[in-house]
Amino acid sequence: MPPPFSLHTPIEELHNYRLARFGQTLSHKLALEVASHFGKKDYRNATIEDLLSYLPMRYEDRSNPSHISDLTVGMEASLELVVKIAGAFQVKNRRSYGRSSLFIFEVTATDPDKTGRPVVVWWFVSGRHAHDIVAYYTKRFARGARFVTFGRWEWDKRRATFALKLNKPADELEMLPTAPGHESADADKAGENKTDEAIGLDAGDSGDPALAVIHTGRRVPIYRKLGEFSSKRIREIIHAVLALLSDSAFPETLPADLRQRKKLIGRATAVRQIHFPPEDTPLAQYDQARSPAHLRLIFEDFFWVALGISLKRGKRTKETKGTLIKLDQATKLRIGSVLPFKLTDAQRRTVKEIFKDLKSDAPMNRLLQGDVGSGKTIVALIAMLATMENGYQTALMAPTEILAEQHARNIKRLLAKTPYRVELLTGSLRGAEKRKRQVELAAGDIHACIGTHALIQEAVSFKNLGLAVIDEQHRFGVMQRAELRARGLNPDVLVMTATPIPRSLTMTIYGDLDVSVIDEMPPGRTPIETRVFGEEQRPEVKKLISTEVRAGRQVYVVYPLVEESEKMDLKDATRRYEYLRDQVFTKFSVGLMHGKMKPADKEEAMRRFVAGEIQILVSTTVIEVGVDVPNASVMIVEHAERFGLSQLHQLRGRVGRGADKSYCLLLTSDKKTSVANERLGIMAQTNDGFVIAEKDLELRGPGELLGTRQSGLPEFRVANLVRDQQFLEGARKEAEFYLEKGEKSPETSKLIQRVKSDARFGLAAVG
Ligand code: ADP
Ligand code: MG
Repeated sequence: MPPPFSLHTPIEELHNYRLARFGQTLSHKLALEVASHFGKKDYRNATIEDLLSYLPMRYEDRSNPSHISDLTVGMEASLELVVKIAGAFQVKNRRSYGRSSLFIFEVTATDPDKTGRPVVVWWFVSGRHAHDIVAYYTKRFARGARFVTFGRWEWDKRRATFALKLNKPADELEMLPTAPGHESADADKAGENKTDEAIGLDAGDSGDPALAVIHTGRRVPIYRKLGEFSSKRIREIIHAVLALLSDSAFPETLPADLRQRKKLIGRATAVRQIHFPPEDTPLAQYDQARSPAHLRLIFEDFFWVALGISLKRGKRTKETKGTLIKLDQATKLRIGSVLPFKLTDAQRRTVKEIFKDLKSDAPMNRLLQGDVGSGKTIVALIAMLATMENGYQTALMAPTEILAEQHARNIKRLLAKTPYRVELLTGSLRGAEKRKRQVELAAGDIHACIGTHALIQEAVSFKNLGLAVIDEQHRFGVMQRAELRARGLNPDVLVMTATPIPRSLTMTIYGDLDVSVIDEMPPGRTPIETRVFGEEQRPEVKKLISTEVRAGRQVYVVYPLVEESEKMDLKDATRRYEYLRDQVFTKFSVGLMHGKMKPADKEEAMRRFVAGEIQILVSTTVIEVGVDVPNASVMIVEHAERFGLSQLHQLRGRVGRGADKSYCLLLTSDKKTSVANERLGIMAQTNDGFVIAEKDLELRGPGELLGTRQSGLPEFRVANLVRDQQFLEGARKEAEFYLEKGEKSPETSKLIQRVKSDARFGLAAVG
């Protein structure tokens, strides 16, 4: 007898519970797939609860299927169809030589009631096994075979009927049990498996009437294919699993009064209904993730994150830091004496907020947000000075060596007349030199240490680190503070970012940080003129560059660098550089910079650009963040469609730093596609980083906006930060409500226990 079935049962054991056509091999495969889908390292930890978190991508109403007569051009609909005739024809494939072939497989079918002309469903078949696959499809789509398919229907003029092109037949088409009495073309099992895997169309048509009722005559969930498990197979498995679980197997996780206040349905019902929608709720609510089941589960996702973050924050404010910082009038005057300009009001306000943190007993954990060019560096420097004035060391970490070098150069210059010693410590320092710096740092002889994250990764120790500033935070992830603390340091931490972070994200990922915003630009800036240009407009681009360079300005030309084809892109930038230097701008000095250059060469190129010796700098995105050369007035971005909006905004921020008018030209060969057009158009419309970030979030999602893996973004099972933003605030308020009751309240302590045991929040690790 296997142990009682529960949410915690490993998927690996699922075959012990007598599911139809489900043996040990399949348990194992399913466990592997679910584990990898949810990023679990060990498949043995993939549980039934995880399996139930694998949600439908959409739903189909098979109790009331659409008819051919309902179709309109461009309409998305699922239709139940009966095959009239099916077959493949070969199309010429110019790019292949003999071996692989390209077919179109085409099915002509009617709906059971024959409400209109037979429609055509077709898709491409290609690759090494194309012949086998075609043979397999031909068998499956024998006359009279039934299937359901979904997609956008178009009008086929030649045939005078509706046609549907499938991109992934495995996800968009499902075979139905054949009507009784019909000679089903049951494929021979032997040959099937191989092709099955190649095409992923579910062949497992057992004809079991008990299973058939799961798939027809009702609302059904459609899942994305999971490894070799088709939507239909997943549906069967989840149906069986839900049948094995009684409602009491889903312990309620949210307090009853909370559920009542927010009108949330119970957990068991929600999980059941999100897979198999009841007949009495409009199906559209399910497709739009606004069904009662969705609302309950979305709320829950957000609630735990909000609770976890509030807990972290509460813990920090109770800590005491090892430093004692005083800021008297004399100190402030000394700081004032090194400032090269008058601070803007916004800068002054943030400095005040930071000073308050510095003086407090609890360690500062503040996020300084400010659009590109708003002047965050000077604010950080002031904080560093204040800390050094009190006898503590400071560190400034930048995401790239170029940026670290620039910071070191500037700060050395500004602090030249002070007693403080500023040094650069990056990964590319030579062994002996690096060791010397490390010794000096440990002895406290270096007061401000500027570097890349090598600073906290390598065996660097400080004598008495009081403040760590992390520039351009989105490049790092959120674990730096934890890393610092793990190394026995509990300094004040100031993180700076120029990626304006939409509020929803600030709350979820940076929710344990206090936030200051510089929402004002230093005086005397002229707005940057942004234009989107196609290939044919190159002459105009050239003209603008020439005019500006002749007027004494400088120009960036940026090429994208995508990781997968780094080498090729590098060649691209290098080749373009040589071309521009030798053929186009022969009278000007053209320079090159990319991330793979030796650090010394990079530094030299940057130095020459800063000094004005290089007039046109051809570069990859290494200059994306932070680089500050006020005389540069033109930013040309090649293949602009390959960049995210926030990245383009960063690049654009390299110009417009002086009083002169600046230009940002986005070049694209892709001007005709609507997506590229919409995205690049936004750049031309606004200079407001927040507007751009919101748009970016909408178009590409949070992972992309913040740099996928490093983002430290909690994973949601149901909620989607963009789609469901509106529910965040409510969840946060509820979390606060329970935390305010304190741990003495049994309700609160239960909630805290739960959130602590959830590995996603890393609360156990934080301590
Ligand atoms: P970011 O916020 O993008 O890091 P920086 O700190 O690099 O911006 O500042 C951008 C430019 O503006 C720099 O050249 C800096 O010297 C200048 N700057 C910053 N604050 C002021 C100010 N209050 N008045 C005049 N110029 C300023
Ligand atoms: Mg900066």
